[in-house]
Amino acid sequence: MSRSAHPAGPRHADVLPEGHYSAPAADLNALDPKVWAQTVTRTENGSVSVGGIDVSALAEEFGTPAYFVDETDFRARARAWRTAFGHDADVFYAGKAFLSRAVVRWLNEEGLNLDVCSGGELTTALSAGMPADRIAFHGNNKSVEEITKAVDVGVGRIVLDSFQEIVRVAHIAQSLGKRQRVQIRVTVGVEAHTHEFIATAHEDQKFGIALADGQAAEAVRRALTLDGLELVGIHSHIGSQIFDMAGFEVAARRVVSLLAEIRDEHGVELPEIDLGGGLGIAYTSDDDPSEPHEIAKALGEIVTRECEAAKLRTPRISVEPGRAIVGPTAFTLYEVGTVKPLEGLRTYVSVDGGMSDNIRTALYDAEYSVALVSRTSDAEPMLVRVVGKHCESGDIVVKDAFLPSDLAPGDLVAVPATGAYCRSMASNYNHALRPPVVAVRDGEARVIVRRETEEDLLRLDVG
Ligand SMILES: *Cc1c(COP(=O)(O)O)cnc(C)c1O
Repeated sequence: MSRSAHPAGPRHADVLPEGHYSAPAADLNALDPKVWAQTVTRTENGSVSVGGIDVSALAEEFGTPAYFVDETDFRARARAWRTAFGHDADVFYAGKAFLSRAVVRWLNEEGLNLDVCSGGELTTALSAGMPADRIAFHGNNKSVEEITKAVDVGVGRIVLDSFQEIVRVAHIAQSLGKRQRVQIRVTVGVEAHTHEFIATAHEDQKFGIALADGQAAEAVRRALTLDGLELVGIHSHIGSQIFDMAGFEVAARRVVSLLAEIRDEHGVELPEIDLGGGLGIAYTSDDDPSEPHEIAKALGEIVTRECEAAKLRTPRISVEPGRAIVGPTAFTLYEVGTVKPLEGLRTYVSVDGGMSDNIRTALYDAEYSVALVSRTSDAEPMLVRVVGKHCESGDIVVKDAFLPSDLAPGDLVAVPATGAYCRSMASNYNHALRPPVVAVRDGEARVIVRRETEEDLLRLDVG
């Protein structure tokens, strides 16, 4: 997070107001490959294209706002994770980042497994042909109906999150005459945030069962006695948008020492360890994420070393990247509606979407980049805040960024790295119609999730 000021000063102020921004890029027309999907490029006429199609043509055909996902990039990232982790490990894509039937098919074809955390996600996965045994079911309060369906279709694992759930899943499995493969989610006393991690004695959060004070060991004890359960491993997920591997190192060490305790007490070596997701991506040029092969190497080394020290066979590792696969592969395309300069402050640029298609800025104070994509401009940079059209002053898409000072209504701007947690968290606030997701690949664009219509809204309103 950079707080440096623009050396030349913005157009409307001598002193920059408070904010988290870097100096504007030397060339505002440049597209940093770190934050843009793989096939995004400036064309000769100055506009931007993805998958070989100009954004103006895409806006014409599909309207704005809309999410465009670079299928080539999605598949390449999925494959890179799969290849990096090889045959001794499993990659589960975290469906909550963004899930649709097309995405399920891409994952299936690229050899990835899938995490779901609701009946709706499970139904989507199954309906697009993901084999049930490659699905993991998560969540801290799965309903009886959800558990029953998951066990019935034969999901590969259910990740147990509480003492009540251990009993609940065991009973459901037994009543269906099945033995369900399960992992127990533990909280290891590590909370990771972007550039640091915090080791806490007690976990003050809703997920998992604490390693501290023997809770997790007790959960294992109970799970091992129940006929409906086959306990196959321990699960840990420490946070999101993480760049520093130190948190994973502490987590792996603590999980492995639980595995050693289990071996000593019960004489069983659990065969699996899941280290969760949370790997960071570049939202702005200031972020420097690691490559999947670096992450795979680091995690593999940590687990192997800890297991050797504990004289355990190295368990099969799994990871659950969501954001790191889909996040960088999409951008949101908006049309500028108004440009409002506030003297001495900044210029507010209103676009035709907002917090209904990207809640992350309002929810997490997330940082994003933005670029003018329908043309190039040599105008000087101006400090902008890109805002939506909702009745809420916190309706901010990009808090602090620079755009060319000749920006005008009708221009198209795009916000990169919106593949994860944008469409999946989209809302109908103000009865907004949730935007479509359009997959672009090799000169072809196709809608994979269509735009909502007013009829969709009225269909639910049965009063
Ligand atoms: C959210 C979540 C993930 C994915 O997190 P990303 O930050 O998208 O990688 C993985 N595992 C679990 C259990 C999660 O809750």
